[in-house]
Amino acid sequence: PLIIVAIDGGAASGKSSTSRLLADRFNLLHVDTGSFYRHITAELLRRGVPHADRPALLAALPGLKFSTRLEGRSARMLVDGQAAGDEIRDQRVNDHVSHYAAVPEVRQVLLGYQRGQTEVARQHGFRGLVMEGRDIGSVIFPDADFRFFLHADPAERAKRRAAEGRQDSVAERDRLDSSRKTSPLVVPAGAIDVDSTFLTLEQVVDKLAALIAP
Ligand code: C5P
Repeated sequence: PLIIVAIDGGAASGKSSTSRLLADRFNLLHVDTGSFYRHITAELLRRGVPHADRPALLAALPGLKFSTRLEGRSARMLVDGQAAGDEIRDQRVNDHVSHYAAVPEVRQVLLGYQRGQTEVARQHGFRGLVMEGRDIGSVIFPDADFRFFLHADPAERAKRRAAEGRQDSVAERDRLDSSRKTSPLVVPAGAIDVDSTFLTLEQVVDKLAALIAP
């Protein structure tokens, strides 16, 4: 059986770096579901489909065809055969992604795709997968072997984004993600809460790794 590790947390809470290192340590497929929401957002913006235009959005969604390409241990989502570009990390996408992610039908099209990553992990001989997002332990894999929730102080998170040279609407995204009706950002039942504010990345990874393989 595959090992499933779910990592949830707010924006810039350290999920991606932590997940990537855990994937390396345990030979897991790394799945960054935030990049999926970002890719869909960039694609719909490119097509001129606003999140608030429900009929246009519902008409556009069934036409999006998803597939997966491996990049190292990370799963890259392709939409109509295309990988996302760097623009998915731009301020424009930061500002829009939580609005698209609040639309139930957008979440619905990604649900099956995200669960299907277990097949990708199996086909490529990984021991399992580590999936990061906002609703992984609560909705996508409520029966995950390990469910973690990463916290960090808002000032520390802003500092981390700035160190990456990126502008990000961290607090605003958390507010929107926590208050939406469908699959809001919550600490999943039974999740292990880790506050990374005063920990280095290595310390966070060691802490999680020790719980996964004592
Ligand atoms: O993880 P990242 O900050 O890149 O995610 C971008 C956005 O995608 C989040 O702010 C949230 O609106 C959405 N998201 C989500 N559910 C997930 C992962 C991301 O709603 N599982």
